[in-house]
Amino acid sequence: MTPFTPGSNPDHRSVRTLVIVLGDQLDLDAAAFDGFDPRQDSVWMAEVAEESTHVWSSKQRIAMFLAAMRHFAQALRAKGWGLHYTRLDDPPVGCGTLTEALKLALRTLSPSRLVMTASGDWRVWKALSAVAAEAGLALDVRRDRHFYTTVKEFAAHQRSLQGKALRLETFYRVLRRRHNILMDGDAPEGGQWNYDKANRQTFGRAGPGMVPERSRFEPDETTCQVLQWVQEKFADHPGDLASFAWPVTRQDALQALADFIEHRLPVFGPYQDAMWPGEPWLYHSQLSAALNLKLLNPREVVAAAEAAYRSGKVPLASAEGFIRQILGWREYVRGIYWTQMPSYLERNAMGASVELPAWYWTGDTDFECLRQTIQQTLQHGYAHHIQRLMVTGLFALLLGVKPKAVHEWYLAVYVDAVEWVELPNTLGMSQYADGGLMASKPYIATGKYIERMGGPCASCQYDPAAFEGETACPFTTLYWDFLMRHQAQLAHEPRLEFQLQRLDVLDSAQREGIQRRAAVIRGEGRPTGGK
Ligand code: FAD
Ligand code: SF4
Repeated sequence: MTPFTPGSNPDHRSVRTLVIVLGDQLDLDAAAFDGFDPRQDSVWMAEVAEESTHVWSSKQRIAMFLAAMRHFAQALRAKGWGLHYTRLDDPPVGCGTLTEALKLALRTLSPSRLVMTASGDWRVWKALSAVAAEAGLALDVRRDRHFYTTVKEFAAHQRSLQGKALRLETFYRVLRRRHNILMDGDAPEGGQWNYDKANRQTFGRAGPGMVPERSRFEPDETTCQVLQWVQEKFADHPGDLASFAWPVTRQDALQALADFIEHRLPVFGPYQDAMWPGEPWLYHSQLSAALNLKLLNPREVVAAAEAAYRSGKVPLASAEGFIRQILGWREYVRGIYWTQMPSYLERNAMGASVELPAWYWTGDTDFECLRQTIQQTLQHGYAHHIQRLMVTGLFALLLGVKPKAVHEWYLAVYVDAVEWVELPNTLGMSQYADGGLMASKPYIATGKYIERMGGPCASCQYDPAAFEGETACPFTTLYWDFLMRHQAQLAHEPRLEFQLQRLDVLDSAQREGIQRRAAVIRGEGRPTGGK
C-alpha cells in the first residue's frame, strides 16, 4: 500500500466504500468501520477552516481537535488502512468547508458509497447529507454506539412521561436500572438514587489545601507541530497555547482516566460544586474532551468508577456523583439536542437582547470571579461546571445577553465544546432560553452564593452582599433586577416561589437603586467592569 503522506491522496485505486470520519469521531470501534475491508475501502478525514471559524474558536480548542485528528490518522495508518487526509496547511491551501472538501474527495476518488457514524452536530449532518444527495451517492449513516441511549429511545422515554415534565432524575434512574449500574438488585446501591446533599460541600475558610496535580500530557512532535501552526495561523483567535497538555491519543486518555480514578474521584463528590481562587482543576476529571472526541468510551469510564467504589477505594457518594454526570447528564443533553434541533438554536424564552460583553473574549474586567474564570478558560480551554454555570453563565443570564451569543462563546472557548452537549447546557440549563425543558428552574443566585462556594470575593472590589451603590456586586444587583423584570413570567415556577416572595421586602427606593445600578452595569458607559 502507498505510504501515508498527510495531505496527499495515497491510494488512487477505485474505492468501494469511503468511510467519513469527523474530528469528534476518533474511535476505531465506531460502527462506521463495521465490515471495513482494507483492500477496497478507504477512510476520509479533513481538517477544514470552517470548523475553527464558524464560531471564533480558541487556540486551545483548535489545537485539541487537530492534534487528536492527526494522531488518529497515525493509528489508522498503523493498521495499514487507506486514508485520504486533508490538512489545513496542505498546499496551496486546505479546503474552507467540509462540504467543499468532501466534494473534492468524491471527484477524485469516485467511491461507490459513503458510510459514516451519525454525526454529533445537526449542521454537519445536514451539510454532508446534502453533498451525498447531490453526488447521487447512498450515505449509510450508522448508529453512534458510543452513547448508552439512542435518540429514538430518548424520544420514547419522553413520550412515556405522558405530558409530565422531562427531568434528568427520572431518565437517569431508567438508565441505572437498564444498564445495571450501581444497583443492588432492583434498588439503588446504598438505598438512595442520589447523594446530592453530601455532594455540595465547600472548602470553608481554610481552602482545599493540597490539590492533586492536573493530569499533564507533554506535547509530542505531532502535537508540537500543530501548536506552532495554530499559534501562527490563528494568531488573532482567543487564548493561548503555553499550557497545552491535553490527552490527544487513546493511550493518553486511558492514562488520564486511571489518574482521575486514583487521585481525584475519591473526593470528587463532596467538592463537585466548590470553587477556589487559582485552582482551575480541583477534583474534576478533565475527561470531557477525551470523551467528546471519542478517545474514551463512557462505558469504560463508568465501569472504572463503579469498580473503584466496589473495591472500597472510593465512597459511594463520589462514585454516584460522577456516574450521574456521564450516564445521566451527558446522555440527557444529547437526547434533548437531537429531539429539539434545529429550532432549539433559536429559543429565547426570556426575551434576552443584550450583546455579550466584549471582555468575555479577554477576561479584561474587574469583576474578580468573572476575570479569573475567563482568564483560566482562555489559558487552558477549561473551566469546571460550576464556573461555567454559576459565574460566566449566570452573569450572562442576569444581564440578559442574547442566548445565541452566549452559545457561540461557549462553543468557541472550551476544548470539550461540541454542539450537541454545549447547546443544551448553555441555552437550556444556563440561560433558561428553552423555558424550562432542560432545567426545572432558572439557575439564579446573588454574589453571596459565589462567595459561599469559594469564589474570590475577598479580593474583589465589589461587595457580594450589596445590591445598590457603586460597590454593589454585579451578580447581586442583577439578580434582583432579573426577578423584577421577569416577576410575572416566573410567577408560575413553584421552585422560585421563595425567591420571588423576597422581592416584597424591597421598598421603592431600593428597587430604584437596583434598577439604576443595573442600568450602569448593562449600559455602554459602564464605568467599571471592563471594556
Ligand atoms: P467533571 O466535573 O469531571 O464531570 C465528569 C464528566 O461528566 C465530564 O467529563 C462530562 O463528560 C460529563 N458531564 C458533566 N456535567 C455535564 C453536563 N452538564 N452535560 C453533559 N455532560 C456532563 N460539557 C462538555 O462536554 N462540552 C461542552 O461544550 C459543555 N458546555 C457547557 C456549557 C455550559 C454553559 C455548562 C453549564 C456546562 C457545559 N458542559 C459542557 C458540561 C460540564 O461543564 C463539562 O462537561 C465539565 O465541566 C467538563 O469538565 P470535566 O471533564 O472535568 O468534568
Ligand atoms: Fe464576583 Fe461579586 Fe464576588 Fe466580585 S463580589 S468576586 S463580582 S461574586
